[in-house]
Amino acid sequence: MTGIVYKSTGSWYSVKTEDGTFLECRIKGKFRIQGIKSTNPIAVGDVVDFDIETSSDETVGVITNIHDRKNYIVRKSVNLSKQTHIIASNIDVVFLLVTINNPVTTTSFIDRFLVTAEAYGIEAVLVFNKIDTYTEETLDEQLFLQYVYSNIGYQCLRVSAAEGKGLEELKFLMKDRVSMFSGHSGVGKSTLVNALEPTLNLKTKAISEQHQQGQHTTTFAEMFDLSFGAKIIDTPGIRGFGIVDMEKQEIGDYFPEFFALKDQCKFNNCLHKEEPHCAVKDALESEEIAWSRYNSYLQILEGDEENYRNDLYSDERNPEKF
Ligand code: GDP
Ligand code: ZN
Repeated sequence: MTGIVYKSTGSWYSVKTEDGTFLECRIKGKFRIQGIKSTNPIAVGDVVDFDIETSSDETVGVITNIHDRKNYIVRKSVNLSKQTHIIASNIDVVFLLVTINNPVTTTSFIDRFLVTAEAYGIEAVLVFNKIDTYTEETLDEQLFLQYVYSNIGYQCLRVSAAEGKGLEELKFLMKDRVSMFSGHSGVGKSTLVNALEPTLNLKTKAISEQHQQGQHTTTFAEMFDLSFGAKIIDTPGIRGFGIVDMEKQEIGDYFPEFFALKDQCKFNNCLHKEEPHCAVKDALESEEIAWSRYNSYLQILEGDEENYRNDLYSDERNPEKF
């Protein structure tokens, strides 16, 4: 039988079976997944095959196989073992909530996020929230960002989670798919998810309150079904996106507008920095490429590790966890 992993606690997995019921499963033997040195063999979102084992007092499932993952996101362990922890898999779309003010979302943060999404192979959509609070100035800024990002192919939505505006379009993009929501603390993730599904009480909030009390919590991702046919993966405590190891050479490939011009650079290994006859630099000069994007590119290229980590994991109180 086949099912989808909705929750994992490390040794037990809650699997939703094809008839819609949940079955607690464990793993048989050791799973080795090629190419991944991971601390957990099975993650939320995995499609698994399982057998049913019935004993006198209980019925449990035994996972026998994992189907190939379309994609997965990871969290690196801080020690030197280079082990990764797979947070979730088979994600169709990730929504990055962006606010102009309260809190400020920088283009550098947005771009690092988009680069990581590209590297993971996950569609990313920008959701500008709190449009009800815009002044003339913040509206200008939002429209400019929307112009920059929609020009390079990223879908942009404008919503007010608080007033329930713009939600139909968002629901349309979520329907029949697995979604994740990211963004700085305070951008309105909980409010938005509540507006989409008032009965769903995600843990994001509770976790951050626990952090404030200085408690150490281990957090697990969990998948939820929403009433309009969407699935959402909640990743408590993780507001950003995992770090992906990238070769300098490949970073530009995750900027779609750079990638599109790459063939026109004189050198096929052009890093778009000091090289002569660089199509990316030319496009920058003629303002076809946004300076903010190029600056983000340089920052990532220079490997600004400190910022990178803080940016990706905006849960500043506990950055060392990741
Ligand atoms: P999270 O940390 O991303 O989950 O953010 P929350 O959902 O807790 O929202 C942070 C604050 O922003 C709360 O005070 C919300 O009421 C407020 N907020 C969220 N969405 C909106 C919105 O669309 N408009 C306004 N004006 N406030 C919002
Ligand atoms: Zn170039």
